[in-house]
Amino acid sequence: MFCPSCGKQNPDDAKFCESCGAPTGVGNGMSQPKAAPPPPPPPPPQQPPQQSYTPPPPPQQQTYYQQPPAYQAAATSAKAGVMSVGSYLGTIILLGIPLVGFILMLVWAFGSDVNPNKKNLCRAMLILAVIGIVLAIVFGGIMASLLGNLFNELTYY
Ligand SMILES: [Zn+2]
Repeated sequence: MFCPSCGKQNPDDAKFCESCGAPTGVGNGMSQPKAAPPPPPPPPPQQPPQQSYTPPPPPQQQTYYQQPPAYQAAATSAKAGVMSVGSYLGTIILLGIPLVGFILMLVWAFGSDVNPNKKNLCRAMLILAVIGIVLAIVFGGIMASLLGNLFNELTYY
């Protein structure tokens, strides 16, 4: 560095000029040897305990009858919301109409843009209807055979 007063070259760390004794500025704030201490390194972020849980792969074969995938059900239910009591009433009353109700049941059970509550309700009622038809056929057959036997016995004896 050079002395600001006389211009003579001095060592860089000289506080006063070797020639004229004027302060060179070193140590009065221009180049403080004691720099601000660096901030302490931040503590490592507290890592939450990493859950290494991996969900088991979904079973390849759906054993449940007509069960939609979970993600699809969640998306549609979030979009549609809860069905009101009035909607339930109207749906059930409409489904009670003999022929129209059955068609509506099919439409709502397999429609793409149907409230999932109504869709599930229609599917449940469809399953009930199928069970009822099967039971009616089975018991009807049993009754018919019993009555037939009865009539046969009556005619034979
Ligand atoms: Zn000087």
